[in-house]
Amino acid sequence: MEENLVDPTADDFERNQELALRPKSLSEFVGQRRVAGQLDLLLKAAKSRKLPADHVLLAGPPGLGKTTLAMIIAEEMSAPIRISSGPAIQHAGDLASILSSLSQGEILFLDEIHRMSRPAQELLYLAMEDFRVDVIVGKGAGATAIPLDLPHFTLVGATTRAGLLPSPLRDRFGFTAQLDFYENSELDKIVARSAQMMEIDIDQDAICEIGSRSRGTPRVANRLLRRVRDYAQVHSKSKVGTAQAKAALEMYEVDPLGLDRLDRGVLDALVKRFNGGPVGISTLAMAIGEEAETIESLAEPFLVRMGFISRTPRGRIATPAGYTHLGLTPPPDLANNSLNSPGNPGNPGNPGNPGNPGNPGNMNGLFDSPASDA
Ligand code: ADP
Repeated sequence: MEENLVDPTADDFERNQELALRPKSLSEFVGQRRVAGQLDLLLKAAKSRKLPADHVLLAGPPGLGKTTLAMIIAEEMSAPIRISSGPAIQHAGDLASILSSLSQGEILFLDEIHRMSRPAQELLYLAMEDFRVDVIVGKGAGATAIPLDLPHFTLVGATTRAGLLPSPLRDRFGFTAQLDFYENSELDKIVARSAQMMEIDIDQDAICEIGSRSRGTPRVANRLLRRVRDYAQVHSKSKVGTAQAKAALEMYEVDPLGLDRLDRGVLDALVKRFNGGPVGISTLAMAIGEEAETIESLAEPFLVRMGFISRTPRGRIATPAGYTHLGLTPPPDLANNSLNSPGNPGNPGNPGNPGNPGNPGNMNGLFDSPASDA
């Protein structure tokens, strides 16, 4: 069973499960209409010129469809695809041997391209531009570079951290697609499509229940669908209705806006134990018994995106929307301070207001310097 239902990354087992659900063409690919339109044009133009397509960089958070798009590019170009990743290419020689074994028009998909070693990245510059690599033979002063011509291939790079790519590498891509989080209506379509492929009988309200809790991420949507299916199966329901979807997602502690236990733990501690902050991440992590890294990579980006917390130079603070999501009234000074109120794009509001029961005072600065880890 997956450890964290809303983690947008996947292990090899899950990637295998996902294979069957991947859209095979741009017309099947839901959402990202601007990027899909631009890619469509690029591929059609390359096909009409009977040449391999320009190199493509796909940038965006995990689980949004980068691998899927790379496979679609291969499918649409009727070209074979070779798949590797940055962390697997630590030496320039590893890359040289992959490149020299490519066939004309082949797609080379390099996932997490920002994690490739610097010497390999440098070798890639020449390969992308001139379809050539210099193979170094010998060592030291006697080393010589033997140029090796490569077939014309299309590099499709994927990255979650485009900013980490050296600009000479970024500049050599003919087209960069920035993928955005999906709208709920798009996620609903993805869930409906996956349910059909998995032969799950599910009603529209249950689909929407899953879509709205999927944090804008198709991978999370498909994963929640699998857990809802399990729940309905164990409870002998042949058709999944809203009640089963809600019960399953409540059981897995994924709330109506997609916050899980970790997210709520962070928000709860920030509001109740640290009086809304500012507080440094390591103090916050210690308070809830988690690694600072886990909070930074899993909970914080989503809480910031939802407008529930803000990062300030002095540490993390809870926003009025963050208080409201916990069913609490924001302190008047916070509510009046527009600087601290970035607004909440997705919070339907929470009418219940039990007040703030558990604030032991601001513990900011007890364990760490918020300025240093803010
Ligand atoms: P990434 O490479 O960005 O981490 P993937 O391409 O592996 O993401 O997508 C994760 C899962 O989400 C796959 O099962 C894929 O089928 C599904 N998916 C992603 N984007 C879409 C989309 N636009 N339409 C339908 N399914 C999608």
